[in-house]
Amino acid sequence: MSNLRENTKAILDSVKDYPTATVICASKYLTAPMMDEIYHAGIRHFGENHAQALLDKQNKLTLPDICWHFIGHLQTNKVKQIINQIEYLHSLDRIKLAEAIQTYRILPLNCFIEVNLGEEDTKTGIHPSDLTNFIQALKKYDKINVVGLMAMGILDDKSKTQTIFKTLVSLKETHQLKYVSMGMTDDYLMALSLGSDFVRVGRKFIL
Ligand SMILES: *Cc1c(COP(=O)(O)O)cnc(C)c1O
Repeated sequence: MSNLRENTKAILDSVKDYPTATVICASKYLTAPMMDEIYHAGIRHFGENHAQALLDKQNKLTLPDICWHFIGHLQTNKVKQIINQIEYLHSLDRIKLAEAIQTYRILPLNCFIEVNLGEEDTKTGIHPSDLTNFIQALKKYDKINVVGLMAMGILDDKSKTQTIFKTLVSLKETHQLKYVSMGMTDDYLMALSLGSDFVRVGRKFIL
């Protein structure tokens, strides 16, 4: 067995105690043939960060049941190209983006609001104190179906990451949303133990 196949099996095995959680393969480091192999080892959800890479890979991978997510920062000027090519967006973080989605999207899109729970000002996402207003403002866009909240942990800080994940789950409950999208290669098992519904795992497929 190739490493990709073994790694995929190991990742799926590691989440078997969480049957309702979904593993999204964060595929920015992967080529289409690698993703094809991961698909055939059992993964159905793929998440891209770049508009052009999404389109290129979709052209090469016409597989039944494949589900595409956009997980990275989405530039407003890329919305038209890709917005009808995905089933979930994990990075809704500004009204301008919501407006562009409303303009170009045909059917309602499942969206996670990205929440900024890290400390650096550079991180994208809605500040938790602005979340109520943001959710309210999104109600007028019928092409946006808010399904949950997304956040990133902090690299090499398990304790802060744990606090972020707990806060995200509690915000999800406060706002009566359905899902949280949290957890990457270094912290997806912790994220699952804290209630993650969607983990976005990249490097672990090729480690
Ligand atoms: C790359 C990426 C991931 C996966 O990160 P790994 O550390 O490679 O598992 C998850 N979410 C987003 C938004 C990413 O850009």
